[in-house]
Amino acid sequence: MRSLIDLHCHSTVSDGVLTPTELVNHAAEKGIRVLALTDHDDVAGLAEARSVADKHGMNFINGVEISVTWRRRTLHIVGLKINPEYPPLAEGLAAIRAGRHTRAELIAASLEKIGVHGALEGAYHYSKGGIISRTHFARYLIEKGYAKDTKAVFKHYLVKGKPGYHEHQWASLEDAMSWIIGSGGVAVIAHPGRYDLGRVTMYELMHEFKTLGGTAIEVVTGSHTVDQYQTFAKLAHQFEFGSSMGSDYHGKGQTYIEMGRLPSLPSSCVPVWRDWQEVENVELEVH
Ligand code: AMP
Ligand code: MN
Ligand code: MN
Ligand code: MN
Repeated sequence: MRSLIDLHCHSTVSDGVLTPTELVNHAAEKGIRVLALTDHDDVAGLAEARSVADKHGMNFINGVEISVTWRRRTLHIVGLKINPEYPPLAEGLAAIRAGRHTRAELIAASLEKIGVHGALEGAYHYSKGGIISRTHFARYLIEKGYAKDTKAVFKHYLVKGKPGYHEHQWASLEDAMSWIIGSGGVAVIAHPGRYDLGRVTMYELMHEFKTLGGTAIEVVTGSHTVDQYQTFAKLAHQFEFGSSMGSDYHGKGQTYIEMGRLPSLPSSCVPVWRDWQEVENVELEVH
């Protein structure tokens, strides 16, 4: 069964290639019935996305994907059903975005050392006024012929130990969760299979997330393998977390999966949306 709910995707407000309007139109074409826009560290696309979703009769959920540093590792925490106007959330995200500008200069300086010129301007050109991210540097490196696609860029550049990497301090897990939960939203660990944590540290993360009021983890997501669906369904069950799902769509040809292609959650999962009125009476599964 395929699922028609997608609670994780990106627009040009962060590092997606489609504007919020184009993204929601695209989701509608792919049959998505319930959609959350979850741009990195920014909520600027939500109002536009919601108004387009309304026109399609699609149920829209306010979302955000917050960059967090936990034990010197970067984690992504998705907030769903957030209030984007809640001052601590809005201010916290603004501070993260400011940090992105500083980091971008350091990334460009690191690339300059290996002879990549003009990366700062090049990356900002791709960011089109949205947040500045490594994805925008990746697009510039592809343009300049350093790699053939996004996946290849992130093998040789912009990651730990490679040119263009700069260790950055994002929000703390405590802060990110208090902004989300304080705004009335629910906190979800994004793509847990992408963190190279090891079993013990993963359990410690789950405990800490639970203690801080975490609600769910992503089980089915564009970057998880089918085996990982099972692994994280088990973990969700063990820790009594809800389960979330989303494509992590960034645009055509940008890694991961197309919208509307993900399988339904494993049957042992309790969907994070179980009690949401936005999902009441919506048929979410098709063959
Ligand atoms: P940033 O938040 O600026 O550090 O950029 C992180 C973004 O880069 C992620 O949200 C992905 O869109 C992209 N990214 C990071 N690692 C990879 C990878 N290995 N393959 C493809 N995209 C990646
Ligand atoms: Mn991204
Ligand atoms: Mn992410
Ligand atoms: Mn994402």
